[in-house]
This record gives sequence, structure tokens and C-alpha cells, in this order.
Amino acid sequence: MRFTLAGNPNCGKTTLFNALTGSTAHVGNWAGVTVEQTSGFYRKLPEPIEIVDLPGIYSLSPYTPEEVVSREFIVQVHSDVIIDIIDASNVQRNLYLTLQILETDTPVVLALNMIDVAEKEGISIDTDKISALLGIPVVEICASKGVGIDEMMSVCRDAALQKRKGVCRLGDKEFCSAVNSVAELMRKDSVKDAVFHAVKLIEGDKIESEAQKKYSAAAQKIKNALTVSPELGGDFEAAVADMRYKYITSEIGGAIVCSRKYSAPTLSDKIDKFATNKYLGIPIFMLIMFLIFHFTFSKNFFGLGIPSPGAAMQNGMRMLSESAKSGVMSVLARAGASEWARGLVCDGIIGGVGAVLGFLPQILLLFFFLSVLEDTGYMARGAFIMDRILRRFGLSGKAFMPLLMGFGCSVPAIMGARTLESKEERRMTVFLIPFFSCGAKMPIWASFSAAIFPADADLVVFGIYFSGIIVAIITAILLKHTVLKAEPTPFALEMPQYHLPQPKSLAIHVWDKMKDFLVRAATVILGATIVIWVLSNFTFSFKMTASASPQSMLGKIASFVVPVFKPLGFASGKYAWCAVTALLTGLIAREMVVSSLGVMLGGASLAASLSLAFSPAAALSFMVFNLLSVPCMASVATAKAELHSTKWFAGAICFWFCTAWLFSFLTYQLASLLL
Ligand code: GDP
Ligand code: MG
Repeated sequence: MRFTLAGNPNCGKTTLFNALTGSTAHVGNWAGVTVEQTSGFYRKLPEPIEIVDLPGIYSLSPYTPEEVVSREFIVQVHSDVIIDIIDASNVQRNLYLTLQILETDTPVVLALNMIDVAEKEGISIDTDKISALLGIPVVEICASKGVGIDEMMSVCRDAALQKRKGVCRLGDKEFCSAVNSVAELMRKDSVKDAVFHAVKLIEGDKIESEAQKKYSAAAQKIKNALTVSPELGGDFEAAVADMRYKYITSEIGGAIVCSRKYSAPTLSDKIDKFATNKYLGIPIFMLIMFLIFHFTFSKNFFGLGIPSPGAAMQNGMRMLSESAKSGVMSVLARAGASEWARGLVCDGIIGGVGAVLGFLPQILLLFFFLSVLEDTGYMARGAFIMDRILRRFGLSGKAFMPLLMGFGCSVPAIMGARTLESKEERRMTVFLIPFFSCGAKMPIWASFSAAIFPADADLVVFGIYFSGIIVAIITAILLKHTVLKAEPTPFALEMPQYHLPQPKSLAIHVWDKMKDFLVRAATVILGATIVIWVLSNFTFSFKMTASASPQSMLGKIASFVVPVFKPLGFASGKYAWCAVTALLTGLIAREMVVSSLGVMLGGASLAASLSLAFSPAAALSFMVFNLLSVPCMASVATAKAELHSTKWFAGAICFWFCTAWLFSFLTYQLASLLL
């Protein structure tokens, strides 16, 4: 049997899915986390039951990709039961989707989730009454604590064995009978989910008018007899939406008693007084971000003269990798390994991959903090605060979510841009995402700031992240007034209640990130490191050079492009070819910048060689270039797929390169003056 989970975003579908299937899908607090359905198995009943987690939606209309995916699944793929999950602290809004699901012929079970939150807020729900009104079983659950879910599954199994016919629930008798007469025509031809299709035909839904052409004429005739109130401008879709809300408030409203109305505001309300305050919201956001960076990168923790937890862990990893390097070196020397083998293993593999792995603790820590912000519900406030600002740059608060995901990895972030409504907003978001420093760029910031600005490492890293945002803002204004003119679409975001982060979901986030990072280190980065080592230690006639040298194949190749980067400061002198090659390898994966510098510069430690090869001004310029320039191949490929146009794709590549070049140039000139 197959049970499908459907519901609004943030009602706890994925949490329930994980509780049922024991899997570890990503639980998230912002839209776009689940764009495709995932499935798994529940095994506590005699037969295994397939559970499908659909993306969160508010309606079965065909406007966003989530809606299209969910709608196709609900209507075209057979499920034995649809479990409609509802946030019990927000029943009325959630029921809007329920009424649409009820129009299908599939058995439906209503699951009132987050019953713990509802209780705390003094909301009491008469489940028997709702069940009687809607004609489906209603169960109360708490997905995050696993309460009531086995009972829910046995209710579902009973429901699966029963037949159900779709029903029309609108607050207007005339409309309902019109729907039913169209549905009757379809039923005669044994069309499935007749009521659902009939309502959509009357609404004038794009997809349905195509699919159900046969009944269009009949539907039109019935529609002609209906009157839509003039304030809805004769729009049937708006009229149907209005009638659904009327039905919910007049019929079901009585089953929900909220005793909180006149009582004190909840803790969430109190926190939000400050967190989403017009003036305090942004400073608080910045302060939280700065504290996170301080915790992760500072060498002088709150002025105490000790390293922060992140910096301390990184020191540990560095010592580990250095002793591994010298240990392996002496073992190989004693075993009589040839010079090139020692070089490949110690300078190439351990030096290169080790340089990247050294930053794993800091990446995980940073990611841990971001997950805490996400899981507590604070990130949703971030989107709300940012909406006011983003609006001026031609974006809505909705774009904040993909942009923010860019801090993790540009690939899912660029895909997340799909959830935006207008073409211009989608393009703009894809253009700006690479400016939000992704996790793979972190080793660059961490290694350069530690080697060249040891006293202010946290400030430098914070500054880099922040400059990315500033550049995004500046270029967004430019784009808005030139090639991407459009008004942002209105944005409504619900605020989940604040709650304590759940250790399990934090663990899943951090574990996912770690797995991802290790797999990349063991595959792409290891492979590319070996290639870089070979190319930078051998000449074209396959003679080994003393150490990585400009005479090597790579040195020769890089010298062709060096002139392009000369004005940026980091491409001059003995190490120019190293800096330029590192930039190019960053196109494979951004971590490669550090590992290839490790391989090419050699030396006792990465920090020592970096401070030899880069002046402070050149280092800043190099960082800025890496921050803003064309992202890694995986992101470029995703952007190409999402932009759906060769012209815009070529435009994006130019845009990234030119922005990076220009801002690096400015950084270098300014820093040379000041430092
Ligand atoms: P989805 O968008 O519907 O997939 O929702 P998620 O599963 O990502 O859950 C959204 C948030 O609600 C997460 O932070 C969950 O930890 C939280 N959550 C889910 N179920 C419950 C519940 O029963 N009680 C409480 N208090 N929180 C829950
Ligand atoms: Mg989800």
C-alpha cells in the first residue's frame, strides 16, 4: 500500500516522514527544501507501507513547481490514503488545502500535528465534530515526539480499505450543485476524481481546461448560469477561493476554540517584538552572525587571549596533518621510496587533501550554528526582516531563502530559485547566489586570514561574507535598472513558533555536510590534487623539477593567463603562476584553491608559504576574486539548467567574471593605499 503525506509548508511532513520510515530526510524551516517527493517504508504493520513525502503547498493550483509536483502526484499517481497534515495551531488556514484534497476520490485521513504547540497556546479542537463535518477520520499527533503516529497508521489502514467519493465543500449551494452536475457528466465516462476536475474546470484552471477539453463546453454552459460577485471582478478562481474560506469559517470555525484570545502573548510573540522589530531586527541579525563567526574563527576569544573553539579545533587538525606528513615522509624515506613517490604522497596527497580537511571542524561548527538558527525558526524571521530591504532591489523576501541557502552550497540554492514567481526574480537570484560565500570557499578564508591576518581572523572572515552581501546589493540595483526590470511579487510568509532545536535534526544536518565534504575530499579533490601535483612538478619533457616550479607544465600554461590578472595584485612576482593556477582549479571545486596552493607552494606549512607568496593587499584581492568569480562547475551547470537560455547563461558567466575582476581591482588599490 502507498500512503502519501500532503500539507502546507512547515506543518511537519518531513518530521513525520522521518518518524515513520526511520530515514533522515532534510527537515527544514523554509520553502523549497523539498521540491521533489521522497519515499520510504513504514514496517510496523503486517505488510510494509510505502510513505511518500510531498513538497509543502497551500493549494492545488498550478503556479509553483511544488504545487505542480504535488498535484500531479495526488491526482495522477494512485495512493491508498492521503494523510493530510495540519498544523494544529493554525487549523483554519491549513484546511484550505484539505478542502481541495477532499475533492479527489482517494481516502483521506486528517492528522492534526503539533498538538503540543496547540495545547500550549490554549487552542482546543473538537476532532469528532471536524471528522463528522468533513466525513473523514481525524487523528491528533505530535510528529517530533512520535506521539500518536502508530495509532494514526492503523486508522489509515482501515481507511485504505474503504471506498470514498470526492465531495465539494464550498460555502455556496448554487456553486456546489453546478460542480456536481459537471462531475456527474464525467462520472458517466468513469473519469476518476470527477469533483476535483469539475471544480478546476469551473475555476478556469489552465491545466484542466486542456486535459478535460471534452467537458469544457458543458462546463461553460453551467458556468453561465452562475454569478460571481462584482467585487471579485467576475473571476471564478477568486470566487471559488472565497467560498472555500467562507465554508471554513462558517462551518468548521465552531469546532476550534481558542482560549488564548485575551490572554498574554506567547513567548514567540515576545521574542518577535525584538527579533522582527523595524529598527532592531537588522542589528540583531548582524550581531548573531558576528558572534557565530567569532566563535568559529577568532584566535582571541572574547579578548581572553585564547583561541575560540573553532580555531582550537583547527589547530589540532593542523598539527595532526603535519605530524602525519612528517611521519609518512620518514617511513617512505626508510623504505627507500623514490623522490617522486615521496613528493606525490607527502606534498601532493597529504599536503593537498590535508590542507582542505584541516578546515573540516570549522565548516561543521559554522554549519551547526546555521542549522540551529534554522531549526529554532529564527531564519524565517531573517526572511521577514530582509523582505523590507530586498523589495527595494527588485526581489521579494521569498528570494532571501535561496540566497541564504547559498551560504551552504550554490547548487541547491540555485535550484531553490525555481520557487520564485517571476522570471526576472528567478534570473536575478541565480545571478546573485554565488556572491553568498558557500561552505567550500571557507577553507580559503580560514587559511588566508589565519596566515596573513592572524590577529583579526574573525573580522576578516566576517568582512568577506559581508562584502559578498554588499556586492550582491550593489549589482542587484544595477541589474534592476538595466536588464531585469520588474516589480517584486507580494510575499507572505508564515512565522513558525520558536522552539528549541532538536538534537536529532541538528545531527542530521551536520552529518550530511560532513559526509558530503569527505566524499568530495576523497574523490574530486584527491583526483585533481594528484593531477595538479604531476602538472606542477614535471616539465613538458617529463623531467621532474626541483619542486613545483614555473618551468613546469602548469607554470607554462598559467603564464598565458597571468597578464589578465596582473592589475589585481596577486599575479605578479615569482608566485604569480601559483595564484592564477589556484584560481583556475577553483573552477573544479572551490576547496581546490587551498589544496592546489598547498601542493604548488610546498614549504613547511601552508601558513608560512601563503605569507611568503601574498602581500596583505594581494591576499585581500585574491579572496575577493574567489568570492565573486564564476562559481564551481557544478554550480555553473545548475545555473545553465535553471536559466533556460544560452544568452542569459553567457550573460551570467560574464557578469560573475567582470564583477569579480572589478571589485578585486578596487580592493587591491584601496588596500595598497591603506595597509
Ligand atoms: P515540512 O515543511 O512540512 O516538511 O515540515 P518539517 O518536518 O520540516 O517541520 C517544520 C518544523 O516543525 C521543524 O522545525 C520540526 O522540528 C517542527 N515540528 C514538526 N512536528 C512537530 C510537532 O509535532 N511539535 C512541534 N513542537 N514541532 C514540530
Ligand atoms: Mg519538508
